[in-house]
Amino acid sequence: AERKRRAAAVIEEVERNLATPTALLRSIADAMVVEMERGLRGDIHACLKMLISYVDNLPTGDEHGLFYALDLGGTNFRVLRVQLGGREKRVVKQQYEEVSIPPHLMVGTSMELFDFIAAALAQFVDTEGEDFHLPEGRQRELGFTFSFPVNQTSISSGTLIKWTKGFSINGTVGEDVVAELSRAMERQGLDMKVTALVNDTVGTLAGGRYMDNDVVAAVILGTGTNAAYVEHANAIPKWTGLLPRSGNMVINTEWGSFKSDKLPLSEYDKAMDFESLNPGEQIYEKMISGMYLGEIVRRILLKLAHDASLFGDVVPPKLEQPFVLRTPDMSAMHHDSSHDLKILGAKLKDIVGVADTSLEVRYITRHICDIVAERGARLAAAGIYSILKKIGRDKVPSDGSKLPRTAVALDGGLYEHYKKFSSCVDSTLADLLGEEVSSSVVAKLANDGSGIGAALLAASHSQYA
Ligand code: ADP
Ligand code: MG
Repeated sequence: AERKRRAAAVIEEVERNLATPTALLRSIADAMVVEMERGLRGDIHACLKMLISYVDNLPTGDEHGLFYALDLGGTNFRVLRVQLGGREKRVVKQQYEEVSIPPHLMVGTSMELFDFIAAALAQFVDTEGEDFHLPEGRQRELGFTFSFPVNQTSISSGTLIKWTKGFSINGTVGEDVVAELSRAMERQGLDMKVTALVNDTVGTLAGGRYMDNDVVAAVILGTGTNAAYVEHANAIPKWTGLLPRSGNMVINTEWGSFKSDKLPLSEYDKAMDFESLNPGEQIYEKMISGMYLGEIVRRILLKLAHDASLFGDVVPPKLEQPFVLRTPDMSAMHHDSSHDLKILGAKLKDIVGVADTSLEVRYITRHICDIVAERGARLAAAGIYSILKKIGRDKVPSDGSKLPRTAVALDGGLYEHYKKFSSCVDSTLADLLGEEVSSSVVAKLANDGSGIGAALLAASHSQYA
C-alpha cells in the first residue's frame, strides 16, 4: 500500500509537470512567433535562427532529367535517383536505398563520415539501369539534404553551425559541407556535382509542393524536429541581397533550438539535457523528437523503480542505462491494446530485464508513455500553429475573402510510425485552429518528400538549366 501511494505521488507529479493545457500551447505559439521575428531580424540572441535557404522558387512540375539526392538524417542516410519527365510525365522512375549510419561514425572524424557516405553513393550510382538517361557529355547532379543547421552561402554551399542529435564530430563546424562531400566523392572517383544543398525541411517543402500546390510549410518529426516555410522576402529584415523575383524565400526555422520559460520542462528533461552531447541546446527538440521520447520515459520509470519499487525491491540495472528504451519500443508498448498488455510485458522483459510484471505495472508504464508522447505531440502542434500564425493562415481573412486551402507537409519516422503521436499532433492542431479554419488546413505525410525535393531542387539549379 505504501508503494502504491508513492507510485501515485510520482505519477501525479509527472502529470502535473508535463501538462500542456491548450492555453499554455497558445502562449508557447505566441512566444515562438516572437522568436521567429527576432531570428528574421538577425538578432544574434534569437533562439530560432531562421536560416535563409536560398530557395526562392519551389518546384513547378516542369523539372526534367536524371537527378540524384543524398539525405543525411540523424539515424539513416538515403540515396535516391529520379528520372523526371516534366509536366506531363512527372516522376518517370525512382529508386532509392537506405543505409544506417554506423554509430562510431557519428562521433568519429569528418573524413571518415563523408568517405563512408560517398562510397555508398558511388556504389549506388554503379547500379544505375537503362531506365535512367543522362544526356551525352553531362555530369551527374545531386541534391544534398543535410539535416543539421547550416549557414548557407548560396544554394549549393554552406557551413555547419553545429552538430545536433547524436552527432559530435570535431572539425566540421565552420566547414563547407558541400566541399567536404565533393572531396570525398573525388576520392571515390565519383564524377558528380552538388547543385543544391538543402535542409531536410526545405527538401520536404519542395517535395510537398511538387505533389500539392497549396503546401506552404514542412515539418520534420523524426530523430530530431525542425520546420521550414515560405516567407515573404520583404518580411526578412536581415536579408540584404536583391529581392528575389518571386518575392518569396524559404526559411529554415531551426525550431528545435526553441527555448522558453513557458515550456513545461521537468526534472527528467533537465537531467537528460545535462547529460546530453549538447547541454542547454535543442530544448524544444528534446521534448518532442524520436531520439529523446523513449529516454524521458526511461527516466520516469527509473524514478518509479527507485521511489516506489515499481519493478521489485531492486532497481533493474538495465533501466539505469541511458537510451536503452528507444522510441520505437515506447511506441510498441503504448499501442498495446491487448487485455493483459502482453506486448508491453514482453518489451519490459526484453529491455528492462524484468520477467513478470503485474498488470498494474504494465498499465502504469503505458500511462507514462501516454503522458510523454502526448506532451511531445501537443508541443509539436503548437509549433505548426505558430508558423500558420506567422504567415496569417490561422484565421479567417479579415477582408472577407475566402479562406485559402493550406497544406503542411510532414515527414519523419516519428510522425510516420507512431500513430498515437501523429493523431495527437493532428487533433491538437485542429483544436488550436478552431473548427472553421481547421477545415481548410491539411497536414499530410510526405513520405520521403525530402529526397525527391532535393532532387527537384538539384534540377531547378542545374548547371545546364
Ligand atoms: P531521421 O530523422 O534520422 O532523418 P527518420 O525520419 O527515418 O530519420 O526518423 C527516424 C526516427 O523515427 C528514429 O530515430 C525513431 O526515433 C523514430 N521512429 C522510427 N520508427 C518508429 C516507430 N515505430 N515508433 C516511434 N518512433 C519511430
Ligand atoms: Mg530525415
